[in-house]
Amino acid sequence: MFENIPVNVGAAYEGERIRSANMFVELAGPKSIGAELVRVKEDVEDGRIKVIGPDLDEMKQGERHPFGIKIEIAGKDLEEDLEGVIERKIHELCNYVQGFMHLNQRDQIWCRVSVEAKEAGFRLKHLGEVLIALFKEEFNIIDKISVTLITDEEKVKEFVEEARKVYEKRDARVRELSEEDVDVFYGCVMCQSFAPTHVCIVTPDRPALCGAMNWFDCRAAHKIDPEGPIFEVEKGEVIDEIRGEYSGANDAVLEKSQGTIEKVYLHSVFEYPHTSCGCFEAIAFYIPELDGIGIVHRNYKGETPLGIPFSTMAGQCSGGKQVEGFCGLSIEYMRSPKFLRADGGYERIVWMPKEIKEMVFDFIPEELRDKIPTEEEAVTIEEIKEFLKEKGHPIVKRWKEEKEVTKEKKEEKEEAEETPAVYAPELALPTSGGVRIVLKNAKIYAEKIIIKKKK
Ligand code: SF4
Repeated sequence: MFENIPVNVGAAYEGERIRSANMFVELAGPKSIGAELVRVKEDVEDGRIKVIGPDLDEMKQGERHPFGIKIEIAGKDLEEDLEGVIERKIHELCNYVQGFMHLNQRDQIWCRVSVEAKEAGFRLKHLGEVLIALFKEEFNIIDKISVTLITDEEKVKEFVEEARKVYEKRDARVRELSEEDVDVFYGCVMCQSFAPTHVCIVTPDRPALCGAMNWFDCRAAHKIDPEGPIFEVEKGEVIDEIRGEYSGANDAVLEKSQGTIEKVYLHSVFEYPHTSCGCFEAIAFYIPELDGIGIVHRNYKGETPLGIPFSTMAGQCSGGKQVEGFCGLSIEYMRSPKFLRADGGYERIVWMPKEIKEMVFDFIPEELRDKIPTEEEAVTIEEIKEFLKEKGHPIVKRWKEEKEVTKEKKEEKEEAEETPAVYAPELALPTSGGVRIVLKNAKIYAEKIIIKKKK
């Protein structure tokens, strides 16, 4: 099928990583811009491949270029609902190409081409050929397909804007539904190739942590490929509405993680948070010194209040692990009314980068908008603490309440220690009716002991 492609193509290359030492060029990624988009159209020129901007033979080793992947598809059974899920396959299918690495999704894509692939004669038009063949093989409902690969900076900028409008439209649709409105959630194990115990549970209130798949996308994906990596999850019994614990989700997670993950709280970072693969758009992390939660996203390059950057934190909580206090999530989940509801939602958020704050600004309760610092106001724990106090963030009240509770507990403990105790190795209590109650090794605490003389 791929005789004209100068490199090998197949699932065996899916996990291939291209490190900087072996990289010819980087396309899109955190230091550039890029996006990918699938659109269903009525009229598509089947098999057409267009490269807008320089191809690989016009680039120099070590360079970084903006990159866009636009795929147009047509077919009588294709609907707009399917765009998101077909688009998510770009990641997997690009990685079938030996010497081409694709990470992330939507406007977060990050690609690399290896030196060997370039030297073997691989060009972007070959990527287009591979995508056309593999997409047709994967989805028999695609009758016609065309691929446009963009490296021209201005054109990529325009394309990213266009793609963001489409993503927003898709995300907005699901905001009208909630977990209470449906009996079925969806699960996805597409990322198990590199995170073997990771299971995404997607509900109307919790889009997938990669940000590429919402409840509608999953429903459409399951419809066209019932045997595929996206499956139905019966909601089952609501065990804890606030935490987002459902018997059906627990059963699915246990089964699909091969018995590793027993249960999941969909709306909390504590105890049993959702597992994290590595595709998450952002991470929610607990800051013990503040008893609050911070959020950091992939694009943020500085240090977080924990003193480590996103990349280090991602390494600690990815791979399908369930790590208490850390949870991978999508930016869209931050727009959900159930966003970390069990932990206090935005009232518990004490820090986030400015870029995220701008993205979700309208979804932060109005009274909290100026109370959550970004890297522009504070980064260290002390700086954040001062900021929160100054602005009267609700977490400050929580600190005071906790202090009171700790004080009360301490006093109770001291009181108990001070209260005189009578130790009785064996003590018979006065009873009647032929029953005898004997306390062995009893310690009896009393506020007062009154000794009365018998008359
Ligand atoms: S992050 Fe979740 S929903 Fe997204 S592709 Fe991976 S497993 Fe599927």
